[in-house]
Amino acid sequence: MPLFLHNTLTRQKEPFVPLDPHNVRLYVCGPTVYDFAHIGNARPYVIFDVLNRLLRHLYPKVTYVRNITDIDDKIIKAARENNEEIYDLTQRTTRYFQADMGALGNIPPNIEPLATAHVKEMISMIQSLVQKDHAYESEGHVLFSVKSFPKYGQLSRCKHDEMIAGARVEVAPYKRDPEDFILWKPSEEGIPGWESPWGYGRPGWHIECSAMSLKYLDETFDIHGGGQDLIFPHHENEMAQSQACFGPQTFARVWLHNGMLTVNGEKMSKSLGNFITVHQLLEKLPGELIRFVLLSSHYRQPLDWNDQIVIQSRQSLDRLYNALRGRELSKEANIIEPIKTALEDDLNTPLAISVLHDLAGRIYKASTTHEKNELASSLKASGEALGLFQQEPESWFKGKTGIDENTILALIEARTQARNKKDFIEADRVRDELLNAGILLEDTPQGTTWRQQ
Ligand SMILES: [Zn+2]
Repeated sequence: MPLFLHNTLTRQKEPFVPLDPHNVRLYVCGPTVYDFAHIGNARPYVIFDVLNRLLRHLYPKVTYVRNITDIDDKIIKAARENNEEIYDLTQRTTRYFQADMGALGNIPPNIEPLATAHVKEMISMIQSLVQKDHAYESEGHVLFSVKSFPKYGQLSRCKHDEMIAGARVEVAPYKRDPEDFILWKPSEEGIPGWESPWGYGRPGWHIECSAMSLKYLDETFDIHGGGQDLIFPHHENEMAQSQACFGPQTFARVWLHNGMLTVNGEKMSKSLGNFITVHQLLEKLPGELIRFVLLSSHYRQPLDWNDQIVIQSRQSLDRLYNALRGRELSKEANIIEPIKTALEDDLNTPLAISVLHDLAGRIYKASTTHEKNELASSLKASGEALGLFQQEPESWFKGKTGIDENTILALIEARTQARNKKDFIEADRVRDELLNAGILLEDTPQGTTWRQQ
C-alpha cells in the first residue's frame, strides 16, 4: 500500500508522491527558544519523528529541517524579565529543548538552522517581494500586502473580512490594510538588529521559515508540518511569501497539522496553573512513557493529558516490554506488515499500538522458545518504527522499581552541600552513585534537576 497523508491544503487523504524519490524533503516549524517546551509543544515533534522514521524506511534519503527561532519579541521580553543576555537565554533554552527531544526518543533533524544565522537570506527574500510589489516599506517597517496576493487564505480558508472581524489582525498606522503582516521591523537601541535596506531592524517570524526552507529544501519541497494552531496566520503567511516570490506551484506540496493537547480537559495556560513542561515531566516519568502517551491517539485528533492516560500507557509499555524480556532477539527482523500498513494510512499510531499488543499476545501464547524469540524480534523492530523499545527490557523495569524520589532528593541535597564546601570528590561520588541508578543530574541556574536516563 502506498503512503497516504491527510493534506490540510486539500482537506483530503492523498497518496504521497515525492518530488524526488531519492530525497524526500520535510520541514517542521521549530521552537521559539525563550522558555522550556511544554507537553503540547512536544506533540508535533514526536509525531513528525514517526513520519521521519517511516519516510526513512520507505525512501533512501530524507532531509528533515526543523528551525530554531532565536530572535523574537517573546525572547526579548523574557530576557528582560530574567535580567539575562538574550544570547544566554536562547543558548540555554536550545540546549534544554534538544535534551528534552532526545529524552523523548526523537531522532535529531538533519538540519536545525538558527534564524539569526539566516537574516541575509530573509533580507534578500523581502527585497524580492518589494520588487514584485507584494511588499512595501512604511516607517522603517516592511509589510506584506495581502491584497496583492489573491490566493491568500488558500490554506486556512479564512476570508479577509472574517479575519479582520475576528480581530485577529493588529491595526497599526504604518499598515495600508489591517491584514498586512510584518516582514521586517525597526529595532531600537539595545534590541538585537541587523543593517538592512530599510534601516537597522529585525525580521518578522513568518519570513524566517520561508527563507530557511528555501535555503535547505529549495523553492518547492514535499511536506510541511506543525500544530493546527500554526495554520493561521503563520503557515498561511509563509505560503503567501514564498509563492509570491517563486510562483503559485511552489513551496510545500503536502501540509500536515496535528490536533491540540489539553490537560485534564482544559487548554493549557499559565494562569490556570496546568502548564506542564517536558522538563518537569521527565523528572517523574521516563521519556518513552511520555512518547507513548503522545502517540496513543491519532495525530489529527485532540489529545487529553491526564493521570489515567499515563497509567494506562505505563501498563501498556509494561506488557510490551515484558513480552521482550529474556528473549534472544535477531537484528534481521523487520517491521511487520500490519504496522507498516497502519502507519502508511496517515500515521495511524493507535492502530499500530494495538497491533503491537496483538503481537505481544502471540508471544505469550507461543509454545516454543524459538517461536517466542522470532515474534519478539518482530515486536522489537516494529516498535522501533514508532521510536519505542530504545532500551533493554531490564532497564525499563529497573527504572520503575529502582531508587525512590525522596532518596534522590536527599542525595542531590548532599551533593549540593558537598559542592558548597568545595568537596568536589564527594560531590562527584554522589553524582556517580545516582548515575549508576539511572538518574541523570542537570545543574541549572535554578538549582539541580534530575531525570531518569
Ligand atoms: Zn514556520
